[in-house]
Amino acid sequence: MSGNQDRRDAFERCFGGLAAIGRDPGGGWTRLAWTDEDQAARAWFETEAADRGLTVERDSAGNLWAWWGEPGADPGAAGEVVAVGSHLDTVRGGGAYDGALGVVSGLLAVGELIELGVGPRRPVAVVAFADEEGGRFGVPLFGSRVLTGALGPADLLERVDEHGTSVGEALVAAGIDAEGFGPDPARVGRLAAFVELHVEQGRGLADLGQPVALASAMWPHGRWRLTLTGEANHAGTTRLADRRDPMLGLAAAVLAARAAATELEAVATVGRVLVEPNSANSVPKRVSAWLDARAGEDQRLDWLLAAFEAAVEDAAGRNGLTAELAGESRSPGVEFDRALTDRLDACLRARGLDPARLPTAAGHDAGALAAAVPTAMLFVRNPTGTSHSPAETAAVDDCLVGVGALAAVIEELACR
Ligand SMILES: [Zn+2]
Repeated sequence: MSGNQDRRDAFERCFGGLAAIGRDPGGGWTRLAWTDEDQAARAWFETEAADRGLTVERDSAGNLWAWWGEPGADPGAAGEVVAVGSHLDTVRGGGAYDGALGVVSGLLAVGELIELGVGPRRPVAVVAFADEEGGRFGVPLFGSRVLTGALGPADLLERVDEHGTSVGEALVAAGIDAEGFGPDPARVGRLAAFVELHVEQGRGLADLGQPVALASAMWPHGRWRLTLTGEANHAGTTRLADRRDPMLGLAAAVLAARAAATELEAVATVGRVLVEPNSANSVPKRVSAWLDARAGEDQRLDWLLAAFEAAVEDAAGRNGLTAELAGESRSPGVEFDRALTDRLDACLRARGLDPARLPTAAGHDAGALAAAVPTAMLFVRNPTGTSHSPAETAAVDDCLVGVGALAAVIEELACR
């Protein structure tokens, strides 16, 4: 594949094939785990891999592995496989690039090396992780965390989607044996490195004027559920002094979270609220709200949460409310492998790139893998920074720089 036009055509054909799957009438993309759209995306992956002579298999966590080189070669040799990849699923009404760009780039990068006549000295795998977004069952990083054992199948199989279908039933419907479902420590143990390319979900690269960057770290993040209970009453006849209005407590808490986030250079979001009885002419009895907070270090996240808690307590006292704050999840920060990232940095500089190191406040399969395997990430510029939205985009030229960078990385790690 010599000319730039050939590379552009190959990208548009490969990326376009996946982007045709799961189109919403509203313009977005919805490929939830183990649905017909997910199955179609998996079939697309198998075809694209086969076209490049790669052998596809599915692991015991439902992830797909396209192998360049012998998948079973020297099964006893620990730490020898180089894996790249990302995920095929999307959030509801998401964009075309999140996850998809990493899988497409992995396939194209291996394809370019094959066309150049480069051979792998160690097995290379392009991995399509299952259910990264958790859009159907509410469990993000499903495939990567089950694979490494960070998530136990016993906790998962009974979880249901909005239609009452359980994870176990969904797996069986997708042709996966729920019996054998679980971690694969031997497979993880064979990995020498994992590199995930991903569209950037912010504007770091756009501001720097660069097409690609390396990830430095993933921010610690968490989700908490706040329940404030007061007293339902008439919106007209109840004197202000007599009210126990939980909405006032929530308002104070949301503003406190925002102020603390600003102070700490963190982010805090209340994006989901339930109001009881949810009546326009009643003082509410109860409000439940979910705080999503992320910060550069664990201590900043602790401080943000402490400020939120203090505001909740204060507002509950002033408004006669009872307050309950429950942690639903908390993920520690991830430092990507320094030696691997330095090696990638040198490799990209040799190609004339000047990759910055950017932290990310989003979750990625690479974060789950990093606990067990030397892991690094490459970001491709997103001109608007918009993600989890149909407006998410990346220029083809930047995507081609990403494919070239990933090919160079695979060559460096697996072909020398
Ligand atoms: Zn993603």
